[in-house]
Amino acid sequence: MKATYYHDRAEVRVGNLPEPKLIQDSDAIVRVTLAGICGADLDFTQNGPEMGVQQGMRLGHEFVGIVEAIGKDVHNVKVGDRVVASAMFVDGECHFCQKDLTSACLHGGLFGSPLFAEHGGDDIQGGQSEFVRVPYANSSLFTLPESLSSSETDAKVLPLADNFSTGYHGALNSKVRPGETVVVIGDGAVGQSAVMAAGLFDPDQIIHVGRHDKRLAFGRRAGATHTVNGKTDDVVDYVKNLTDGFGAMSVIDTVGNQTSLKQSLDLAQPGAAISVLGFGHLYAPVDAPYPGALFKNLTIHTGIVNVVAYMNTLLPLVESGRVDPSMLFTDTLPLAEAERGYELMRSRSEGTVKVALRAS
Ligand SMILES: [Zn+2]
Repeated sequence: MKATYYHDRAEVRVGNLPEPKLIQDSDAIVRVTLAGICGADLDFTQNGPEMGVQQGMRLGHEFVGIVEAIGKDVHNVKVGDRVVASAMFVDGECHFCQKDLTSACLHGGLFGSPLFAEHGGDDIQGGQSEFVRVPYANSSLFTLPESLSSSETDAKVLPLADNFSTGYHGALNSKVRPGETVVVIGDGAVGQSAVMAAGLFDPDQIIHVGRHDKRLAFGRRAGATHTVNGKTDDVVDYVKNLTDGFGAMSVIDTVGNQTSLKQSLDLAQPGAAISVLGFGHLYAPVDAPYPGALFKNLTIHTGIVNVVAYMNTLLPLVESGRVDPSMLFTDTLPLAEAERGYELMRSRSEGTVKVALRAS
C-alpha cells in the first residue's frame, strides 16, 4: 500500500509499504479516505533525529476513513463505518482519561510520530497512508453521523482530529465570553481554527494577529472582526486602542515563542486568561513570564488538546453547520503527491494554510 514516511531531514517520501495488521484485540484497521498535514509534521520532519524520528517512520496523525477490520474486543465501531480518529490514540480508561485529560493518557500516543511511540507497539502507524492500524479503537475512533459520512464531507470532519479541536481547546481555556475581546496570535491552521472556535462563544471582538496579509484576510473569513500584521504594526497598541486601553480578556497564543508570549502578557488586561497552544518554546527557551502575570492576576493555561474529550461536542456543531472546518484546506492533493504537500506547507506560502491528502 502507499504510505508517507520520513526519509531524511525535511524530506518525506511516498512508497509501497506493508499493509498494517491487527495486533491487539482492541485494534482496528482503517482504510484512509482523507488525511491532513499538520504543522507538527513539519516540525517532526525538520528536526528528524533530534525528535526521535527514524528513517522509514510513517507520518500523519489526522485522518478520516472507513473501518476495514476490527479486533474481537472492539464494539464501538463496526466494519464499514466511516470514522474520524483522534490524533492521539488513547485507552479511554486510565487515571487521566477518566478526568478527560486524554492527552495525558498513560497508554496513549500520537499517530505517525515518535511521541509516546512505545505505547503503540513496534509498528506505530501514520495516517498519511492507505491503511492505518488504530490501537484502542473503542476510545480512539468516532463513527460519523449519516450526514457526514461521504467523501464530500470528509474535509469538514478531518480538522476535528487535531487542528480545529486544538483551536477549540484554546477558546475554552482562554475563557472566551460573550461581549468580551479575544486576541488570537498566529495565522497558521491552528490560529485560523482558534478564530473560528472563539466565535462559538460569542465574543464582541476577535482580533487576529499574524505576519502574512493573505492569511489575515483568511482570518477575516474565519470570523475575525479585526486583523493586525505584527511585522508592520504595534500589536499591543492596536489591541489597547480597541479595548478602551484595558487590553483583552482572552488571549490564544498559537505560536508560543518569546515574542508571542511577551505580546500576550502585554495585551492581556488584569484578570485575563491566556491559552498557550503553540510550542515554539520547545525549540528556543523563553524567559519565564511570571512577574508580568503576577501583577495582573493572569491565568496562563498550557497543554495539548484533549481531542477525545471534545469530539462529542464538536461533531454536532459541524453536523448542524454551525462551523465548517473544511475551509482550512486551501489545497487538496492525491496521497501520492504528499511530498509536494509538505513543500507547500513548509514554504509557508501565503496562499497555503493547510493541505489535505486524498488517499482513496
Ligand atoms: Zn488513558
